[in-house]
Amino acid sequence: MTLYPQLILDALKNVRYPGTGKDLVEMGMVEDNIRIDGMNVTFSLLFEKPNDPFIRSVVKAAETAILTYVSPEVNIKGNITVKARQLARPEPDKLLPQVKNIIAVSSGKGGVGKSTVAANLAVALAGMGYKVGLLDADIFGPSQPKMFHVEEARPYMVEVDGRELIEPIENYGVKMLSIGFFVNKEDAILWRGAMASNALKQLIGDANWGELDYFLIDLPPGTSDIHLTMVQTLAITGAIVVSTPQEVALADARKGISMFTGEKVNVPVLGLIENMSWFTPAELPENRYYLFGKEGCRRLAEELDIPLLGQIPIVQSICEGGDQGEPVALNPETMTGAAFRELAENLVGQIDYRNAHLAPTERVHVTKGGH
Ligand code: ADP
Repeated sequence: MTLYPQLILDALKNVRYPGTGKDLVEMGMVEDNIRIDGMNVTFSLLFEKPNDPFIRSVVKAAETAILTYVSPEVNIKGNITVKARQLARPEPDKLLPQVKNIIAVSSGKGGVGKSTVAANLAVALAGMGYKVGLLDADIFGPSQPKMFHVEEARPYMVEVDGRELIEPIENYGVKMLSIGFFVNKEDAILWRGAMASNALKQLIGDANWGELDYFLIDLPPGTSDIHLTMVQTLAITGAIVVSTPQEVALADARKGISMFTGEKVNVPVLGLIENMSWFTPAELPENRYYLFGKEGCRRLAEELDIPLLGQIPIVQSICEGGDQGEPVALNPETMTGAAFRELAENLVGQIDYRNAHLAPTERVHVTKGGH
């Protein structure tokens, strides 16, 4: 018997792609490269995604169809190659193409001031003249609406180039969206990983962020599915890790750092930020009381060979600023405002340095320590 491509195609018309009622030829899944060499047949099947759950069963069914409808003599087993239309990792730069730098703000544990730092850093960067966006991705305690005094705000939809997009809320020169605008706090905590991840993807991809110099993401504390989703969805420039100088916090910060630098995530750590470094009473600005130990983050930063981007003291006004929705960074002439301004300058400097000196693919690796 002489084989020719149409015979193979006719056989493949008997194989339906699950759930569609259509056959493989109709679906355009058979690539136009059927090669025949005696009884040897090879070709490729094109799937939408590399992790299509039906790859194995469809390939098996295609083999069976050829053996049944063409001839049991055809040598087809193992000759069908599988290709995917989509890349395994989404092209991250297609999302937020107008955003220059995406910074993940994280912490090993809760309550160390990650959200406070994210809010003040955003305000400080805006104060320096940059275009800044902030996504509150902390589903366990979305606090940015309060910190920006926009708790009552409800984002509306706008049409941009024929697409309906969520318009971020803007205050203090920062465009901001929070999961807290869309669900109440009690419900957010109950969200399963996938639900939260999908909601966050929408707040990134379906929002009118426009052109930004810095896009900060206030991540949930610790390590979670959300972190993985974010790094898979976005081309993150780097992560910054907030910790207090306390030993227990440092241990968790270390875990957070190794997650970012690990194989699976592979995001450079731009630096550590020490929060609650010392207590300074407003009336005695020269006095420093090291409540949580001294220079803990500096030691960790040196050990892991990552920059310490800033030290923020414990000051009542920082806490009050958060509660009242007026971040202290709005006033860079105050002691606390200046601390956040310096932090913002160091972060910008660190990113500029990396852009100038490192190839885009180069990553900061933790050389010592680890777990
Ligand atoms: P996280 O996001 O890590 O859970 P938050 O930013 O919500 O932490 O901060 C926890 C609490 O500590 C808040 O009440 C905040 O106002 C307060 N806080 C954070 N940093 C400081 C600081 N440097 N000085 C005083 N209070 C602070």
